[in-house]
Amino acid sequence: MLSYQHMYHAGNLADVHKHGLLSWILEYLTAKDKPLSCIETHAGRGLYDLEDDAALKTGEAAQGIDRVADFFPPAHPYSRVLVAQRDISGPRAYPGSPLIATQLLRPGDTLHLAELHPGEFAALEYATSASTARCYHRDGFELAHSLVPPTPRRGMMMIDPSYEQKSDYTEIPGHISRITRAWNVGLIVLWYPVLTSGAQAGMVRSLKKSRPDALCHEVSFPPARPGHGMVGSGLFVINPPWGLAEEAARLSTCFAKLLNERKKD
Ligand code: SAM
Repeated sequence: MLSYQHMYHAGNLADVHKHGLLSWILEYLTAKDKPLSCIETHAGRGLYDLEDDAALKTGEAAQGIDRVADFFPPAHPYSRVLVAQRDISGPRAYPGSPLIATQLLRPGDTLHLAELHPGEFAALEYATSASTARCYHRDGFELAHSLVPPTPRRGMMMIDPSYEQKSDYTEIPGHISRITRAWNVGLIVLWYPVLTSGAQAGMVRSLKKSRPDALCHEVSFPPARPGHGMVGSGLFVINPPWGLAEEAARLSTCFAKLLNERKKD
């Protein structure tokens, strides 16, 4: 049973971390005049409305992108995507990772998007209908294994599960090593929550052990509500592009400053 819906969380501080670095990566990859493949295993609905009851109920965007947009200068690809999406869809629109990709990829690039929840899938198909993205109502890892190595071979995969089941943490390292065996040049980005329970710790240890060359970047932030278990966001990046570590370090400084300010509130 799929109960997670990202509309309650869109634009929160974890999204800011994930989408800020995803935008940077896509801009880096598209700077070179060679086509690329982009695969997303857990796409969500693509476009969010931060005035929606779900978003207002949790208030996560209000504590997230609404307060920290200045982490990104106007020329940063994440800022440009936000502005462009809001020009099209209104001032409270928020682009999820699929629309960040459709905006930053070029006509010759290929985008594959998997989403299993029927309602989210229908919304995703609608949100991406003006693009050449291919949407699959299918398990994300099943799709990933069937596509690697993709054509063109150059490119990236975003893995952003909802971690609704504890087994996700134990199964993900195996999926990733199978994907990288088939696609050793692929840039793989895994997002994970940093939880007070430490549920993610074993998975992260196992990933670091098998890929000591990867970039593992975590930021800490105040919980969205008192007692909320997510207190940070992590990205594990295999084959990180040149310069990503510096951009990640810049974001670490921004998040550390935010955490300090909120402690004083
Ligand atoms: N990546 C999106 C973004 O940043 O805009 C958010 C994705 S959300 C965290 C995770 C999504 O994965 C949910 O929409 C959920 O329905 C979907 N999902 C859950 N299990 C899945 C599976 N086995 N295969 C594909 N999608 C799945």
